[in-house]
Amino acid sequence: MNETINTNNNYNVDIPDTMFEEWQSIVDLIARIAKVRATLIMRVQNEEIQVFVASKTKNNPYQTGKKEYLLNSGLYCETVINKGKMLLVPNASKSNKWRNNPDMKLNMKCYLGFPIKLPNGNFFGTICMLDDKENHFSQDIKDFMEKMRNLIESYLNLLYLSITDQLTGLYNRTYLNIKAAKEIKRADLNKKPITILLLDIDHFKKINDTFGHLAGDEVLKNFAKIITSSLQTTDTAFRFGGDEFIVLMPNTAIKDAVIEAENLRLKVESSQILPDLKITTSIGATERICGESLDQWFMRVDKSLYKAKYGCRNQVNLS
Ligand code: GH3
Ligand code: MG
Repeated sequence: MNETINTNNNYNVDIPDTMFEEWQSIVDLIARIAKVRATLIMRVQNEEIQVFVASKTKNNPYQTGKKEYLLNSGLYCETVINKGKMLLVPNASKSNKWRNNPDMKLNMKCYLGFPIKLPNGNFFGTICMLDDKENHFSQDIKDFMEKMRNLIESYLNLLYLSITDQLTGLYNRTYLNIKAAKEIKRADLNKKPITILLLDIDHFKKINDTFGHLAGDEVLKNFAKIITSSLQTTDTAFRFGGDEFIVLMPNTAIKDAVIEAENLRLKVESSQILPDLKITTSIGATERICGESLDQWFMRVDKSLYKAKYGCRNQVNLS
């Protein structure tokens, strides 16, 4: 069976509520038109597949949030993702291949599903319909479902463009504000520490002036790669603007963040950022004080970076 699905799609982005509501109305509409018990949008994350949106149909046995391990599960959706194309199983009970698949425990013998791709080519998941009656579905229904799949992919594409820095591929400042607001709420609720690093390349302007703007762009891209290759699984990196970058570290106290920051600083210092160029970075590290606003927190980390710059650069300053 399948061992090749790339479930490590590194796209753990939160789908905005407005988009989720649109997707809910799409699955409800498909279920009504096709007269099936369930229409679902499934999301693949970290080797699991999750019911991300479930139609509000009578007797829908699938609930939002339910997860299954995906690899070698024998699920219909695993085949859709593995093959990267539509799968129609009109009646699993008449098929040797599908008779014992996990959805048969719910008597879901009929399946039609399409893969949903992310802008980076990996799979977001699937959109699918399931029913307890045999159904071959008309070409119109298949075409309609495929169009809805295309619409969902367009939503994902627009979301990607709006939250990604096109030069480095990191998240941009728009997403930093969304993500940081969410994470500080979570930190307050769970009484957990949360820390940010603000990194700024030392004398970056001189690189542009000496080697040209395109070389400067390459430095920014490679700098971003060094950051992402050093992240812990719970950290997220953002381009704040220009040559400034942020690492958001939930569940991390300043004493641990500083160790990571120092490792990052050393990694940058020892890297050959371009064949004939090395760089250094100054880093501010600030743990949030419970109840502090985003702006206040960002202002404090900015001050911390300022101190690192005026302490001769190539150092970590914490405050
Ligand atoms: P410091 O050590 O104090 O940080 O000095 P610096 O020269 O790095 O600081 P400064 O903020 O003066 O320079 C940042 C430069 O980054 C200025 C701007 O022209 C350049 N820059 C901003 N965005 C880009 C970009 O996308 N590509 C390139 N190549 N340069 C950029
Ligand atoms: Mg700089």
